[in-house]
Amino acid sequence: MSVTISVPKETTSGEKRVAMVPKVAAKLAQLNVAITVAKGAGKKSRIPDDAFAEPVQLSGRAEDLFGSDIVLAVNAPEPKAIEKMQPGTVLLSFVQAHQNPETVKALNAARVTCFAMELVPRITRAQSMDALSSQASAAGYKAALMAANALDRFLPMLTTAAGTIRPAKVLVIGAGVAGLQAIATAKRLGAKVFAYDVRTASKEQVESLGAEFLVAEGVKAEAEGGYARELSDAEKQKQQAMLEASMSDADAVITTAAVPGRPAPKIVSKAMVENMKPGSILIDLGAVGGGNCELTDPDKTVHHGAVTILGPTNAASLLAEHASEMYAQNLFNFLKLILIEDDGQDDVKPKDKTHSLKIDWEDEIIARTVLTRDGKTVNEAARKALGEDA
Ligand code: NAD
Repeated sequence: MSVTISVPKETTSGEKRVAMVPKVAAKLAQLNVAITVAKGAGKKSRIPDDAFAEPVQLSGRAEDLFGSDIVLAVNAPEPKAIEKMQPGTVLLSFVQAHQNPETVKALNAARVTCFAMELVPRITRAQSMDALSSQASAAGYKAALMAANALDRFLPMLTTAAGTIRPAKVLVIGAGVAGLQAIATAKRLGAKVFAYDVRTASKEQVESLGAEFLVAEGVKAEAEGGYARELSDAEKQKQQAMLEASMSDADAVITTAAVPGRPAPKIVSKAMVENMKPGSILIDLGAVGGGNCELTDPDKTVHHGAVTILGPTNAASLLAEHASEMYAQNLFNFLKLILIEDDGQDDVKPKDKTHSLKIDWEDEIIARTVLTRDGKTVNEAARKALGEDA
């Protein structure tokens, strides 16, 4: 019997992405696995059902969508849907365990083997599976466009018969994957871009995009693995003073700062917003983790004095078509680690070769990405965050 793979419809409010697109489904089908996609699953990403060609099946039945060997999703299904999965079912999706204890409980109760896409390690071999990066790129790009769209000003310098317009100044706080894409996009639109990050290692990347890197004297916050750590109070004060001065001169500020597994660091205070120029815009991608700005109201437009603050919690979903395509490709690359060609097929044509689900628990990518297995939360950080070790 061939391995069965299903793609249920996303049920998270506001989610437009889907975990499978026709192009990737066709590649997956070449591994001779049986794929079922929920009817209407791609609709919000502008993928009509009939874009999925044979042998991909469409279904609206829960047994087909949750009773398969492997379930693919953007967001982990609701606990009620997880209950329908069989022990040993493999789920690949974002989970964000620390924010979703009920999901983790349901995964363990159903004995689902869950690989959480946010846990894919940032090692070279896993780059093609790095869904956090692909989705952050989409979010950063969109954030720069949102800023451009919300401003009553041009971004580029214009020299016209009606006079010269100075380029807008865009400040990007947090120069990780999303921040760098926001910088690149704002630069392409002609803005003068400044960026800040606690990781001084990002200076070179910022400068290579033609932006200016801002430095807060004496603040360096790199932790293990190249990620940021939380700042001390003294460091925070230095950072705030430097940023306050830069923000008061900016037309748009885009914040993307995050510390993995923790709420978004609060970097922009009410006073800093009140110091911004009238008509300026703040796009807070930290909104998903509670916001980098204390005035952010997730997914709402906040007018504070003459400053507008937008805090999209799922900016990647606003680019659903391409974000889904990239995500589906990340999943496919991960699946290739666990769908292994059956033995004794040396003389079989590639298109006829069969594959089985074989998980090498010693593989670094597998070991670091697995969240739940055999009824237990096996990821240490998630266990800690959920207080399961107490
Ligand atoms: P992230 O989303 O966790 O955080 C975004 C950025 O916010 C980070 O650059 C972080 O340093 C910054 N930040 C955190 N607290 C801050 C504060 N108080 N003030 C200012 N900035 C703050 O990060 P990410 O985008 O996922 O990437 C983090 C790192 O991982 C980067 O070094 C990136 O280059 C690296 N990375 C490596 C790989 C790989 O090797 N395969 C893939 C993707 C990312």
